Amino acid sequence: MSADAAVKYVTEIPEEEVKRVSNWINTEEYKEKNFARQALVINPPHACQPLGAQLAAHGFEGTLPFVHGSQGCASYYRSTLNRHFREPAPAVSDAMTEDGAVFGGQNNLHEGLENALALYKPKMMAIFTSCMPEIIGDDLTAFIKNARNKGHIPQEFPAPYANTPSFNGSHIHGYDAMLLSILQTLTAGKQVEGRCTGKLNLIPGCDFNTGNYREYARILKEFGIPNTILADISESFDSPCDGSYHVYPGGTKLDDAADSINGKATISVGPYATAKTFTWIKDNYSGKHVSLPMPMGIEKTDAFIKKISELFGKPVPESIKAERGRAVDALTDSHQYIHGKKFAVYGDPDYLLGYVSFLLEMGAIPYHILCSKGSKKFEKEMQALLDSSMYGKQGKIYMGKDLWHMRSLLVTDPVDAMIGDSHGKFAARDAGIPLFRFGFPIMDRVNKHRYPLIGYQGVVNMVTEIANKFIDIKDETCEDRFFELMR
Ligand code: SF4
Repeated sequence: MSADAAVKYVTEIPEEEVKRVSNWINTEEYKEKNFARQALVINPPHACQPLGAQLAAHGFEGTLPFVHGSQGCASYYRSTLNRHFREPAPAVSDAMTEDGAVFGGQNNLHEGLENALALYKPKMMAIFTSCMPEIIGDDLTAFIKNARNKGHIPQEFPAPYANTPSFNGSHIHGYDAMLLSILQTLTAGKQVEGRCTGKLNLIPGCDFNTGNYREYARILKEFGIPNTILADISESFDSPCDGSYHVYPGGTKLDDAADSINGKATISVGPYATAKTFTWIKDNYSGKHVSLPMPMGIEKTDAFIKKISELFGKPVPESIKAERGRAVDALTDSHQYIHGKKFAVYGDPDYLLGYVSFLLEMGAIPYHILCSKGSKKFEKEMQALLDSSMYGKQGKIYMGKDLWHMRSLLVTDPVDAMIGDSHGKFAARDAGIPLFRFGFPIMDRVNKHRYPLIGYQGVVNMVTEIANKFIDIKDETCEDRFFELMR
């Protein structure tokens, strides 16, 4: 384009009007209007149910996620996972279009299953739905039964399925529904009276941080506790670059998942993301069953470590005790940079409880706490956590709100920093504060999913990132006479 070519706008808006509106959206008056908004959601910090279902499917050996529904939706789940992990997220869709919407999607499903089995040779296909088949009421149970009877898939082929309507819930609910169906399918008829695998089943929840999965495995190795992680995405989305493409890297072995029903104990550390799965496990799995909060921060990690020590009658290894000591040292060294700073946080319930717990330990003030898809139970638990510390007294919880609400909060009642996923970067920029990217999706930074946030190592990682950013800001903004070598 030549230098003198100019864009001709269809509608010219006077500069003064742009300025007026830019200022107005930063006012209390606008905030009130924004919070009165009911029929519109703007930039919600959650994804739709099927995306979570796809994550659960990727956590199992040789498993092909299968979307019953529209192709565009399937592209959205895949591209969001691609962008976050910078890895392929192989999945198929039976590509329902207008005729499927009118006559039902059974033909699409049958043809899709047969083709996917022939082409991609999976050991299991995990089927879940987009909005369209949910709206028209497709009967997955009958469709899959018919698929077996008509020979589109073998009678014994594992094909767990979950209804994941996106007009209800979020990615964590889809994750829960898919994980439950996979475990119900794989463990059917596998419980053996008197058998105990001696293993711990660990359920991390709907967690998009591959470093967390590796960290759980490492901690359990330090203890010498054999385990099965349900569902393990650490290799699926963080496999080595060896020059060849593997469709199904990693994942929990299907045999191990089937035998998990005979485990010695099962711990869920994603109570809000696996509520239904855990309820079913309590009624069906052998051994002990424990639900704990995600081990973020010192206190919640202590609870996790103590519980596995107690369940397996093993003392806490010296190496883990030393790690704890190092994490406490890292907190102490960084305390002065974070103490008293106000934070806005948003995200999934399990993660939010972790962030807030960690911030309270640092003497920071969790100030705006926003959850777009939480429950009353979560709100109560969060309030109790805030009430447990003098640093939590100023914290206010905003349920069912989005990141445009968050923007209003940031510009009318400022904080020092924000914690959440990449979607908050626009609000953080307008407010002129740093955003610490610890959630999902993180599409504008690299390798974040490789750094664990759980356990004592997670504490060190979080505190290092946060404290150093505040020090950077000081270096970038201070007068020359205060530009110091030591900070
Ligand atoms: S919300 Fe519904 S229509 Fe939108 S991507 Fe998710 S499944 Fe598809």
